Amino acid sequence: MQRSTNLNPSKLAMVPFVSVDDMMKIVNTIGAAKIIAEIADYIEADFLRWEKFDKTPRVAAHSKEGVIELMPTSDGETYGFKYVNGHPANMARGFQTVSAFGVLARVDNGYPVLFSEMTILTALRTAATSAVVAKHLAPKKSKTMAMIGNGAQCEFQALAFKEIIGIETVRLYDIDPTATQKAVRNLAQSGLTVIACASAQDAVTGADIITTCTADKQCATILTDNMIGAGVHINAIGGDCPGKTELHKDILLRSDIFVEYPPQTRIEGEIQQLDEDHPVTKLWEVMAGRAAGRTSDRQITLFDSVGFATEDFSALRYIHDQLERTGHFVKLDLLADPDDPRDLFGMVQRAAGPLAGS
Ligand code: NAD
Repeated sequence: MQRSTNLNPSKLAMVPFVSVDDMMKIVNTIGAAKIIAEIADYIEADFLRWEKFDKTPRVAAHSKEGVIELMPTSDGETYGFKYVNGHPANMARGFQTVSAFGVLARVDNGYPVLFSEMTILTALRTAATSAVVAKHLAPKKSKTMAMIGNGAQCEFQALAFKEIIGIETVRLYDIDPTATQKAVRNLAQSGLTVIACASAQDAVTGADIITTCTADKQCATILTDNMIGAGVHINAIGGDCPGKTELHKDILLRSDIFVEYPPQTRIEGEIQQLDEDHPVTKLWEVMAGRAAGRTSDRQITLFDSVGFATEDFSALRYIHDQLERTGHFVKLDLLADPDDPRDLFGMVQRAAGPLAGS
């Protein structure tokens, strides 16, 4: 492994690797709010060329503790995938609920061009996606957001909505008060007015936008129908697996529902509670001006977020573009690349040195 400050495209056999340490340096060099806004631009740009992408629901391996998923996509020139887990019981055992890494590769020869940590990057891209979507769906001049579930994703979401939507106040609630205290501490210098609330009902009071970001491997009811007034935008992030939802079904029946990729969301999202033909609107069509977003002040809009492969692709594409700018990566000797491509065995043999076998 070799630390480097330049990306030499001719040295194909060396793959840039962005570690957790590198990712933290990249975020702190650029600034958390700014990097989320820049990733948001990449995500929106890729939603606008939606039809270019190979799309498939992610491949999920479920267990009683959680899920491990592979999320592949390609735009025909670059291929990407993310490996990600979701284990709601992890937090109590001192592990992350969500951890991830990802790869970008050239389609023309299949060689990886980036290998990156994606635990931090997933939080950045999820926040960026939420805010990009809210730009199209949230009430104009939204100033207050309720944030229910104050775990790992929470502060990233709050910063994204401040930076991209202009939110000024976040109203926090978590069943575990220490999670809320952590978020209050971390957001102290953010410029947001941060209010710790005693219940979910308290948190949603006066909110223009409600984000649910809880982790529980069950059909939970974080929001009930009576808590949702006319005109709000709901950013429902935590229900992202079969048998794992956050909203009461009656809320869904009153909302206009917007999704990333319907074949995946029907399996994993809040809409798994609804009939298979319940109408939903594709977000890329809203962004491209082909479908309506918010059309009235009284409409309840719901982003049934599950996280789609193109968003990770956009985030990896962004990080790849920052490597020269920041220099925060190492070069990994990940590809064999013998001088004669057919002489793989000879390369191994020569590595043993001239005396080998004598
Ligand atoms: P986390 O475990 O760090 O935090 C979850 C928080 O939810 C915890 O603080 C927990 O105390 C709280 N909580 C659980 N039940 C609650 C309830 N009934 N009321 C209030 N709070 C409650 O997890 P995280 O990394 O922040 O992720 C949160 C959820 O978001 C997970 O389910 C994860 O799978 C999902 N997620 C979705 C996307 C997406 O793109 N849609 C991306 C990342 C994570």
